[in-house]
Amino acid sequence: MLSLTLGLSLSLSLSCTMTATSTTVAPTPTFAIVNARVWTGDTKRPWADAVLAAGDRIMAVGSSAEIRKAVRPMTRVIDAQGRMLVPGFIDSHVHFMDGGFGLTSVQLRDARTKEEFVRRIKAHAASLPAGAWMLQGDWDHQHWGGELPRREWIDSVTPNTPVFVQRLDGHMNLANSAALRAAGVTRDTKDVAGGEIVRDERGEPTGILKDNAKSLVWRVVPDPLPAQEDAALDAAMKYVAEQGVTSVHNMGTWGNLAAFERAERGGRLRTRIYAAVPLSSWERLRDTVAARGRGGEWLHIGALKGFVDGSLGSHTAAMLAPFTDAPTDTGFFVNTPETLYQWTKGADAAGLHVIIHAIGDRANRTLLDMYERVAKEDGARDRRFRIEHAQHLDARDIPRFATLGVIPSMQPYHAIDDGRWADKVIGPERAKGTYAFRSLLDARAPLAFGSDWFVAPPTPLEGIYAAVTRRTLDGAHPDGWVPAQRVTVDDALRAYTTGAAYAEFMEKEKGVLARGMLADMTLIDRDLTRAKPDDLRDARVVLTIVGGRVVYDREGAVRP
Ligand SMILES: [Zn+2]
Repeated sequence: MLSLTLGLSLSLSLSCTMTATSTTVAPTPTFAIVNARVWTGDTKRPWADAVLAAGDRIMAVGSSAEIRKAVRPMTRVIDAQGRMLVPGFIDSHVHFMDGGFGLTSVQLRDARTKEEFVRRIKAHAASLPAGAWMLQGDWDHQHWGGELPRREWIDSVTPNTPVFVQRLDGHMNLANSAALRAAGVTRDTKDVAGGEIVRDERGEPTGILKDNAKSLVWRVVPDPLPAQEDAALDAAMKYVAEQGVTSVHNMGTWGNLAAFERAERGGRLRTRIYAAVPLSSWERLRDTVAARGRGGEWLHIGALKGFVDGSLGSHTAAMLAPFTDAPTDTGFFVNTPETLYQWTKGADAAGLHVIIHAIGDRANRTLLDMYERVAKEDGARDRRFRIEHAQHLDARDIPRFATLGVIPSMQPYHAIDDGRWADKVIGPERAKGTYAFRSLLDARAPLAFGSDWFVAPPTPLEGIYAAVTRRTLDGAHPDGWVPAQRVTVDDALRAYTTGAAYAEFMEKEKGVLARGMLADMTLIDRDLTRAKPDDLRDARVVLTIVGGRVVYDREGAVRP
């Protein structure tokens, strides 16, 4: 890893000059990027050519001539050759540790046939020590026509390896017989509220466990060792840096937070993290914040993540009307509205940030109602309630996001992925309110974008392509799936920068390239605002800088 601040440990903090009352020492500019198309995200100055930074903060944004004048002998100057510089991308929804573990586990995401699925599991099992669990996987049964996998497919190739691999949306897992045995799940095991044990004609579990039923197996899966977690986190940070991501909002666990804290203490953080923990643990977070505060620019806490429903792909999204392909089924809630209300009420009174997953139109309406009720009861406050995914919205609910100040935190890549098959599940009429980016922006909702990695790739450039084109991955919708919901490159960039910074209460620190902001930025090989849709898809990240430090350098252009 290269560092721009190498050998410049004497460089001064910018705060010296920003409040230059007690000292006249000017900060040393540590690096400059000149000759760039700088999309600043700053409404006062949307475009510039160059940026100057001192340590981890931006000193100035201006023309190349202005910035060159401010350069000192020790300043590293990078010529961007006319390429596009943007504020570092902020991915407002990741499962960072799962993503990191996924990088090193069995790769099933692109297993396109049943045979390939089995072959990869067999090969990976051979690489594991006896008894070690095979997790992650990220399979997608839509690849082979929608038949759910069964334990019999893989039992013979995994006799000594408990397997518990998930669908790529994380809402259902396949357990093999070894895993079901370890968990004690048999035909006599009762279903779990908010979940399902899928059974065959004879009543035997097929190995598929949906939503809350997954906990039957999870409770016997051994925790990863700290060293394994550290390796996964390092892999995750390296991977997202390659995608131009400088900050993430982690929808995770207390265990995740402990791994992030270890990395911060060890000086290993290369990605800034907003670490949400489960909503059900809001009292623990309240006490933690009271004892230790909310952290700093690298790692901060204060957010809680909950769930209303499941996912569309698993038919566990809560819909107002039945699924088109399952006319008696409207999905279900994984937590009752009353439980969510109690948790949210407590968290809100404690000043914490509530973030809740809602997919179906019924889940979204119920959640908006609940947020409205809590806000009314507790009075005005800058609370920034969030709805994660906000995937299927009834038209009447779209204006409510702006009215209530609720942030729709959405993942455009899902639209071009789900768009391959969602019409089958919800029908074309309801599809109009699906991933309704345009309608939400027109209604002035504070939109934030993210990926939902591991569920989807943590690649903002693909996300921007998805939001702008809505061309489904299968090529079936060249003009866009529900094209009325397409947005501009500008809109998408804002949702990945200023919008996402706002969604973590950090808009005064990042999301914009302007004097005094954190020096987090991403250089892209072409101006996205001038690119045609195909060019958008081919765009590549060239350089990623977090806090003035180069964390990814595709061309090896920045030498120490
Ligand atoms: Zn998620």
